[in-house]
Amino acid sequence: MMIQTAQPQAPSSQLQSEIAAAEAAHTSGVYSKRPLTIVRGQGARLWDDEGREYIDCVGGQGAANLGHAHPAIVAALSEQAGRLISCPEIFYNDRRAELLTRLAEVAPAGLDRAFLCNSGAEAIEAALKFARLATGRTGVVAAMRGFHGRTLGALSATWNRDYRTPFEPLIPGFAHVPYNDLAALEQAVTDETAALLLEPIQGEGGVHPAAAGYLAAAADLCRSRGALLILDEVQTGFGRTGRLFACEHDGVIPDLLAIAKSMAGGMPMGACLIGPRVGRLAPLSHGSTFGGNPLACAAGVAALDALTRVDPLTGESLPQRAARLGAWLMAEIRGLNAASVREVRGRGLLVGVELRGKVTPVLQQLQARGVLALPAGMTVLRLLPPLVITEDELARVVDALREVL
Ligand SMILES: *Cc1c(COP(=O)(O)O)cnc(C)c1O
Repeated sequence: MMIQTAQPQAPSSQLQSEIAAAEAAHTSGVYSKRPLTIVRGQGARLWDDEGREYIDCVGGQGAANLGHAHPAIVAALSEQAGRLISCPEIFYNDRRAELLTRLAEVAPAGLDRAFLCNSGAEAIEAALKFARLATGRTGVVAAMRGFHGRTLGALSATWNRDYRTPFEPLIPGFAHVPYNDLAALEQAVTDETAALLLEPIQGEGGVHPAAAGYLAAAADLCRSRGALLILDEVQTGFGRTGRLFACEHDGVIPDLLAIAKSMAGGMPMGACLIGPRVGRLAPLSHGSTFGGNPLACAAGVAALDALTRVDPLTGESLPQRAARLGAWLMAEIRGLNAASVREVRGRGLLVGVELRGKVTPVLQQLQARGVLALPAGMTVLRLLPPLVITEDELARVVDALREVL
């Protein structure tokens, strides 16, 4: 029997292409989409279906630190796709062994085990479950303005009411404290707390970096109260902030480290890195069918190689490049002295521009000038360009900002 259902209403006046119309007719509806169809990318450039070129400061929302069509990622994926794509973790695998070895080499000291998964939210779910197992406690302290993903555990830690309210009741035992407020942490982290979960820089929440000393004090507090520190580096990881992981800036080593987004050059992959305060995890206590699949692992190895390699021409690694270009970009934006700008915040190429008004018109005007960027809340413009963006491309972004701001 055919069941007649209402077609989702496509905002057809805005749709520019048949592609967009076809997608809008059948997509879930949970995304607020821009009327733009992207069909190709190269480095920090994107092209739409009409051949228009854009400079990409969306950066796959953090998944494209290596840029688009990075040759090393393309080669690794092509080679591995012809050899083996699926291999669940009931077996060992050569690519997975290689990735786990490389991850343990580059991770903060002691985080030498990893649970491999497929997204940021899954990395957070794993961290929350491991924290419960390791401590025998159930409380979680997270931060106001924090973002950790959309699955029910990660959502329980996420602050934004618009994301949470429709799904209540969420998981009990989650408390939210003001970010960068040590006194509030002292109050909230108790002997019932399994974990304190923080981003080293709040990304979605408006690009708010941790104050100097905050993460180190949080780590000390967790140790003294028998709680674990989970850092969410899903957005800040893999060179974005000028170091491979943002916690390196503060010399802080978490007990569990959630990573994803740019972990595998844009391929879906996440991981929860596990430190020594988490004991042995029993077989069957967690799992994932796609986790650690050889295709993603091959991309992950290639991504780590690309991120740790020093360019012989510039003497610089990609994280170092992010630090240099990010400092330049923030100085340029501050130097515009634009009346519409309240504050410029960030680290490396994770840059937030707090505006005096709404960000949406600014995003539209940038797009009209060939620059794609992101919001972080209602009033913050967020720039997440690939770390391979050229000086010329970044100068064009500044030119567009000069005109728009
Ligand atoms: C994007 C993001 C997540 C969620 O990652 P998904 O892959 O979308 O599930 C979690 N934490 C932070 C900090 C993020 O930026």
